[in-house]
Amino acid sequence: MTRARMPRPHEVAAARRDPRLLRALRERRHDDAWRTRGTCQSVDPETFFPAPNEPADAAVALCRSCDVQGSCLAWALEVGDCHGVWGGTTPRERRAMLVAWRSEVQPDPDALDDAGPPVRDRLLTLVPSS
Ligand code: SF4
Repeated sequence: MTRARMPRPHEVAAARRDPRLLRALRERRHDDAWRTRGTCQSVDPETFFPAPNEPADAAVALCRSCDVQGSCLAWALEVGDCHGVWGGTTPRERRAMLVAWRSEVQPDPDALDDAGPPVRDRLLTLVPSS
């Protein structure tokens, strides 16, 4: 297993200007019910966890049409988990966003406490049982 490299300064600078991050900053803590309203509720959760050598385009495209994209990304950044697609971002994109986020936002202890089970399990809870 290889360790992810630290984002470079130009990547962090680009992340600070990324509209997805700006939306997350605006919408954080505005919608506690975002998990129940995500577009991914009706999609196979595997879509949001592509293997490292697989494209994440399908998941990112679904997130783009999601009404709670900002809240979802804000949550992922507050938790700091970098697996899977959240809020229309890939893990690599979020690594740079995380550096920018942590310089802009104080940690939310409630979000971290709420992290509880692994993030993948949390996404699975969004999928209605059949
Ligand atoms: S991962 Fe987040 S942004 Fe993407 S569809 Fe699900 S709730 Fe929406």
